Amino acid sequence: MKSYRKELTIRAKTRRAYINITSDVEAALAESGIREGLCLVNAMHITASVFINDNESGLHRDFERWLEKLAPEKPHEQYDHNGYEDNADAHLKRSVMGREVVVAVTNGKLDFGTWEQIFYGEFDGMRDKRVLIKVIGE
Ligand code: ZN
Repeated sequence: MKSYRKELTIRAKTRRAYINITSDVEAALAESGIREGLCLVNAMHITASVFINDNESGLHRDFERWLEKLAPEKPHEQYDHNGYEDNADAHLKRSVMGREVVVAVTNGKLDFGTWEQIFYGEFDGMRDKRVLIKVIGE
């Protein structure tokens, strides 16, 4: 069995962002040379998510509004976590949107459903954050 590891560095220009990283994951898979196996992609931070959904900007605005209803950023004082930090909402949003995805690798390609794309969800951005890609198989 082979394995391949790669980190992406992402610096969102805004506190929250939804960034399509599908082509970066496809590039890592190509570099791995693995044809059959599994591809794991996870956020390496507890205020960011990796998730699979539709590449549709209206849906991304819907995610933003829905997450702000569930865990509004402000007022910062509403959260016990916000002593030295102001990112309690980002931890909660990350918990809802998830840490990682696993995609089957078939015949050298990510074996997606029709509309599936991989997104990095940033909830406390404007600094360098890392995403781990791990491919295992043969
Ligand atoms: Zn925090």
